[in-house]
Amino acid sequence: MRFISTRGGDSATFSEALFKGLAGDGGLFVPETLPDVSPFLARWRTLPYPAMVAEFLALFATDMPPAALLAAAKNAYACFPVPDSPVPLVSLNNAVSVAELFHGPTLAFKDFALQLLGQLYASDGRAVNILGATSGDTGSAAIHGMLAVPGAHCFILYPEGGVAELQERQIACTGSQWVHPISIRGSFDDAQAIVKTIFGDSAFAAANALAAVNSINIARILAQCVYYMDIVLKTGANEDNAVEVVVPTGNFGNVLAGWMLSKMGIRGLRFCVASNANAVVSTFFQTGIYRIGTVTPSLAPSMDIQQASNFERWLWWHFNADPARVRTAMSDLRNGGTLTLTQNGAPPDPAIRAVSCDDAGIRAQIGRVWRETGYCVDPHTACAFSAFRENHAAAAVVLATAHPAKFPKTIEAVTGKRPTHPSLEALLDRPLERETLPANADAVKASIARALSRR
Ligand SMILES: *Cc1c(COP(=O)(O)O)cnc(C)c1O
Repeated sequence: MRFISTRGGDSATFSEALFKGLAGDGGLFVPETLPDVSPFLARWRTLPYPAMVAEFLALFATDMPPAALLAAAKNAYACFPVPDSPVPLVSLNNAVSVAELFHGPTLAFKDFALQLLGQLYASDGRAVNILGATSGDTGSAAIHGMLAVPGAHCFILYPEGGVAELQERQIACTGSQWVHPISIRGSFDDAQAIVKTIFGDSAFAAANALAAVNSINIARILAQCVYYMDIVLKTGANEDNAVEVVVPTGNFGNVLAGWMLSKMGIRGLRFCVASNANAVVSTFFQTGIYRIGTVTPSLAPSMDIQQASNFERWLWWHFNADPARVRTAMSDLRNGGTLTLTQNGAPPDPAIRAVSCDDAGIRAQIGRVWRETGYCVDPHTACAFSAFRENHAAAAVVLATAHPAKFPKTIEAVTGKRPTHPSLEALLDRPLERETLPANADAVKASIARALSRR
């Protein structure tokens, strides 16, 4: 299977795309074709989760040995409490279940992809260092995933003051000489733009063996398709009994994974994009107009994003795989900050509903779910509950993307009870080690070069 750039100027095998992250022309890699996976449903129902991951990935990673994929998947999920079934589906009532995606080592759904990525890099054996931007949870999940790779440095950029306290501690209190936290004087969008600029200098990226672990990396998206498969198998969703998956959305990677699976012969999935006050993506799926504004800090910081990277992949399929139209749309967005795809004001994708929720709504949902069911949701998952309540479909699965203990202050203020987790409590006494830099790609490059020349 080949992977081609959304902008038409690059192509790669799976493992090349795994190492490159961003395509050479600035676009994002997408699989050239999406296979029909429906014939595998009956078989996958009988497999443990890691085996299903390996078989799904083998359809795309045709340049990696299937045995290596299976070993990587087994190792990746070994650190979950129930490795063979890492996605507990908790039923709250007849209308809604919660898929708890936060049982990995860093307590956010990003572990599903980043544990696997670390194992795939390790099994390849080539030298690799990680450069990534984080809105809060990618950084720690990447660091933890890369523990599997001997000698790999992790350069993690995050917005100064723009991530929750415990999220920052997970990144900047590791005490590891391999981890280089860099707080950027700017927003997540600034940090993500710096990462893209640095990967745009392919000589620099190659000389320093840099790989991108943001959701611009297609391997991450493919890894995430599998928990949607798991939800289909557990709920029995099909053409006649659709299930709506409500997805807390920032960079549009998570919901894109589910949407891609629905293009692979899996019927019965519908989607709801749940945004926080940064309602750019949800507004787009309501109106067909994407308008980039300035980032509003919210109680759900991992979704404080205006420029959702993976939107470019959706555009590519929306434009029937025409890279010229993607290039035009992306340059419209870059130059004017706006993209209009309205057809009589109709929502651009009938399979995607969209709702946003401000901080007051987040607090209200944390409180309401707690009072009605005794279940504690984190602020990101609260956005999904808000979206679920508005006009919801018959059956819904809310994706719980982070453990509530990552956001104790917000939750305690609403419920009076402080959620805790032992792995987070242990971070509280450790010193923060980080460098603060201006939102400038050259400053970050210099820091990377310095760190790598020290060894
Ligand atoms: C990253 C993150 C999101 C947003 O996911 P995208 O794939 O960027 O849309 C939502 N919730 C939490 C807790 C996250 O860490």
